[in-house]
Amino acid sequence: MFYKSTRCGVDKISFKDAIMMGLATDGGLIVPEFVPKLLPQNLKNDDFKSIAFEIFKLYIDDIKEKDIFDLIEKSYAVFDDIEVTPIRQFDSLYILELFHGPTYAFKDIALQFLGNLFEYILDERNQTLNVLGATSGDTGSAAIYGLKGKKNVKVFILYPKNGVSPTQELQMCDIEDKNVFPIAIYGTFDDCQNIIKEIFKDNAFKEKYHLGSINSINFARILAQIVYYYYAFLKIGKNVLFSVPTGNFGDIFAGYLAKLMGLPIEKLILATNENDVLYRFVRFGDYSKQNVKKTLSPSMDIQLASNFERYIYYLYDQDCNKVKNLMVELNKNSKLSFTDKLNQIQSDFSAYRTSDKEILETIKYFYEKYNYIIDPHTACGVKAALKEGKQTICLATAHPAKFSEAIENALGFKIDMPEKLAKLKTKKRNFEQENSIEAIKHFIELNANV
Ligand SMILES: *Cc1c(COP(=O)(O)O)cnc(C)c1O
Repeated sequence: MFYKSTRCGVDKISFKDAIMMGLATDGGLIVPEFVPKLLPQNLKNDDFKSIAFEIFKLYIDDIKEKDIFDLIEKSYAVFDDIEVTPIRQFDSLYILELFHGPTYAFKDIALQFLGNLFEYILDERNQTLNVLGATSGDTGSAAIYGLKGKKNVKVFILYPKNGVSPTQELQMCDIEDKNVFPIAIYGTFDDCQNIIKEIFKDNAFKEKYHLGSINSINFARILAQIVYYYYAFLKIGKNVLFSVPTGNFGDIFAGYLAKLMGLPIEKLILATNENDVLYRFVRFGDYSKQNVKKTLSPSMDIQLASNFERYIYYLYDQDCNKVKNLMVELNKNSKLSFTDKLNQIQSDFSAYRTSDKEILETIKYFYEKYNYIIDPHTACGVKAALKEGKQTICLATAHPAKFSEAIENALGFKIDMPEKLAKLKTKKRNFEQENSIEAIKHFIELNANV
């Protein structure tokens, strides 16, 4: 399998090169040159690791099968549930628990794998890597837990200084490993993401410092996230909907790719919070940037979704020239219109937007009805599924204890902390920096592996 860029500027690169490249050198996103088919009835085993193995083999042909197997074993052995992503049923809703990894959010599923993959490739190539990423909370800690203590890797994570929860910040900063650099930026998540994008565009700098990325732009993350769509489908054994709380369009894009591969997903429900650019896109074909609003579900406080470009690429029949032109237009005008494609978009997705007030009501409703606590992100997905009114698998993207303030606000009592979260106390290592591309480049020059 070869990989290419959504903007035509990169073509015929191997899986390993695609993973090390992160964002494509032409500013586009990496996609496989074709979508392999995998019908769920052709899977012999329905456990998470076996499914992962069958899917990964279709996309990876430059790593020995035995090593792919070992990477999967190592990545998912650290999960605290033997099923990795267990499912619970509540009447017509199923909750797919994606938060059993070391940082209690679904991003562990991809980042444990990506961390081990990086270490594997670097060891083989005798190279070093400096990973650079932006986080609105969960990616950062998941990346740090995926990479801390790994050989030949340093990890620089930018986060908005007042834009993540106290627990999320402690998860990133209460860490001894010297290869970890959590950096608080005086700005928003979009500012952090913009700094990263600009630095990655500087190819000379990127090469000199062997920069790699863990943001949801890395294709390995999409790949790992395809697995639980198949897993859930096989467990439930019928054609259902999936409801996905969305920010960067990464998790839901993995579902879309699963559908292109042949998983019979009836519809993907796209669930946003009050940062509703993707909701407006699906409902009205209006993709226009507005200011980011702080909500109770901070990991979805995003106005431009980095994986959106991958979907656009398929929406326009893999026409990379069209994508390139659209992205130039988006950069210039901060908006795009897709009214000509609404029929197609609405056959892939339905979309709902959930307010903070509805998030709190939904947490309360679900707890009172089922004695089960959902986190504020999951609440957006559950609320969307309730509005759609059909049998739906709701992706539970974080453990509720990660957002204990919101839970207390909704339910009036404090939720018990899992042991690993309760133990977090002090910021052992963190760094504060101006909202400036130059400042961050300078920080990297001082601290990177070369
Ligand atoms: C990152 C995150 C999301 C959004 O996922 P995307 O892939 O960015 O769409 C939703 N919920 C939680 C808890 C997250 O950490």
